[in-house]
Amino acid sequence: MTAGGQGTVPLFDVGASFADIREEAMATLARLGASGAFSLGDDLVAFEAEFAAYCGGAHCVGLSDGTAALELMLRALGVGPGDEVVTSAHTFVGTVEGIAAAGATPVLVDPDPASRLLAPEGVAGALTERTAAVMPVHLYGRPADVDGIRDVCAGRGIPIVEDAAQAHGATLGGRRVGGLRTAGASFSFYPTKNLGALGDGGAVVCDSEETAAALRSIRHHGSAAGDANRHERRGGTFRLDTLQAAFLRLKLARLDEDNARRRAAATAYRERLADLPLTLPPADGADMEQVVHLFVVEVDRRDEVLGALRAAGVGAGVHYPAPIHLQPAWRHLARGEGSFPVAERLATRVLSLPCFPTISEEQIDRVSGALRSALAPG
Ligand SMILES: *Cc1c(COP(=O)(O)O)cnc(C)c1O
Repeated sequence: MTAGGQGTVPLFDVGASFADIREEAMATLARLGASGAFSLGDDLVAFEAEFAAYCGGAHCVGLSDGTAALELMLRALGVGPGDEVVTSAHTFVGTVEGIAAAGATPVLVDPDPASRLLAPEGVAGALTERTAAVMPVHLYGRPADVDGIRDVCAGRGIPIVEDAAQAHGATLGGRRVGGLRTAGASFSFYPTKNLGALGDGGAVVCDSEETAAALRSIRHHGSAAGDANRHERRGGTFRLDTLQAAFLRLKLARLDEDNARRRAAATAYRERLADLPLTLPPADGADMEQVVHLFVVEVDRRDEVLGALRAAGVGAGVHYPAPIHLQPAWRHLARGEGSFPVAERLATRVLSLPCFPTISEEQIDRVSGALRSALAPG
């Protein structure tokens, strides 16, 4: 029986997604095992070509994980110590870890309350002489206003680097994320992401041949193209495993269908929750298609509601319970509470409902019913 039949409804169901590719994955493992091409093998090259083409970007470089992809994308662009990178205070911690790992300083901005994302006005107020990049995060699968941010950065030549870890396949103006003509988009293939590996993985999609070449070198000990023993720059071990790339090829073939199923689940939730005292996630904008990495509502008394849902067997979650600047490791990025009121308020109100490609109507009914009871007056 799949999780959720009579028992609990999980927040994600990564096991059910594996069932979809099980036979092909086993055959892939047998084929790769026989070939022994585990590192920088043909499946990695093939996946990179397929994912670049899918996104509409010129190049894809497979990397070890999404946080490293953020770090290395910045390093490949020459962003490092002394530089500032503007991003949202309402994001996953990996965003600022990537910036800091490159040696740069994250400059946090309060998100727009409606989109819950970094917005052009916020960016405009955060630019300084030292701004070396702006990093919008397409949080929850909703593309940030890249065109508006581009307008703010225009004239200064500040590159836009996207944290697209939650937005594989999302579109803006008819182009997929990764093909938005920025300096680069960084993806994570952590198992629960819309395009998830059977372990860790990440990638950068970009148009510049020079950036892609730098990334290929850095991920492999700074090696020169065609001469693995000549180390041209400081690198490390940041390669996407060939086996994960082979699994990702199987998943990529299903990504559009999986995203359509996530979107259908979101539509079903919107219908069932329309009359409840909560804030639904913003709908698609003009010329935008979200991919619903997470279906995040906003409610009063969030922790009580979360407790009631969990008691009813619903694996709801919180993304994220504290904004970056109130996390112990990152308090130095702001002046404590009150620094970013929108992010601080979101952190007390956001509630992620179970949303994954294989979720059933019955599971959506159960979650919606449990939420209705949790929000019932009295
Ligand atoms: C998952 C995620 C990352 C980090 O990716 P990992 O592969 O887990 O390192 C970075 N930013 C955002 C917004 C994410 O959701």
